[in-house]
Amino acid sequence: MKKHNTQIIIIGGGLAGLEAAKWLVQYHYKVVVMEQEKIAGGHVVNWHSLYPGGIRGDELINNIFLTKDSMVQILTNQRVTKVEKRDNFFWVHTSQGERLFAEAVLLTTGFKLFNAALKEELGYGIFPNVVTSAEVEQILASRMKPPWQLPPRKVAIIHCVGSRDMKAGNMYCSKVCCMAGVKTAIHFNQQYPMCKVYNFYMDLRMHGNSYEALYLKAQTEYGVQFIRGRVSELSADQYGRLVLKSEDTLLGKPLKLTVDVVVLMVGMEQRKGLVVSDRGKELAAFDGQHFYEPLNAYDDAHKTCLPGLFLGGACKGPMSATEVIVDARAAVQVIDQYLQNN
Ligand code: SF4
Repeated sequence: MKKHNTQIIIIGGGLAGLEAAKWLVQYHYKVVVMEQEKIAGGHVVNWHSLYPGGIRGDELINNIFLTKDSMVQILTNQRVTKVEKRDNFFWVHTSQGERLFAEAVLLTTGFKLFNAALKEELGYGIFPNVVTSAEVEQILASRMKPPWQLPPRKVAIIHCVGSRDMKAGNMYCSKVCCMAGVKTAIHFNQQYPMCKVYNFYMDLRMHGNSYEALYLKAQTEYGVQFIRGRVSELSADQYGRLVLKSEDTLLGKPLKLTVDVVVLMVGMEQRKGLVVSDRGKELAAFDGQHFYEPLNAYDDAHKTCLPGLFLGGACKGPMSATEVIVDARAAVQVIDQYLQNN
């Protein structure tokens, strides 16, 4: 029975990594969390609020930190470049040239956001008032200054930016952005009560408990207008306002709309740059081209082809914060079972 001196390394100090660390120390393992940014907390720590309950992102992360145990060591500014399996243990290498020993490794590297500048037709990086969903979260949380000078009167929120898009190379749905788009529309109205918000969508995927209710509330209480259509072009008029061209596919009519602010709901992508090797041989399954695949999606959803290397959270594919928490906790059970038997 292994416990106190068994070291587990968690790569990625976002929501999944911290949640898993919190529970692994309850089992008396020695846990090291390696985070490449200067603070832990991942994307979530910057989020204004999380649906469905509306908790602030930093509050959720702080709740995990409050229960932190001295057996968790959080190393920030540590970019892991390679995970190497030798016999029955691992070496985890960093960009600073160090290596750490572990008997099990959990990858909770999460996701990166689609680079909106790649969709040139949507004007990101060209027009200051075109912002991403991640930037809006920071603006609404007062972590970032808004680029607009006056309270916006009209806002367009564009769904599926870099997701479900063959040209962008991402054929999958990022799963959380429909609901985040509805939530953002409501928050714009709360912050700027005179503002009219338009959401441009392909399909609305309201799959969670109470999501449909929030979608209806956005329309009935806040007057948010949902338009089914892809925005094909964005330009500026002589006053600097943003002009969108689209089609309302339900009415079958072309549409032109002038707004003050455009929010792009950017999708999730796999992070690149981590090499995983087994006795010197690099494993193609971890080349970063796709989200990491577990052994299977059912009863081995946290194991990989390399025994002792586990997956947790959104490095496996788009997930909401609530799903990440559940997934990280499940990963803990699987890791404990593995270490008890090895
Ligand atoms: S969740 Fe909605 S906005 Fe996001 S990719 Fe899927 S359909 Fe598009």
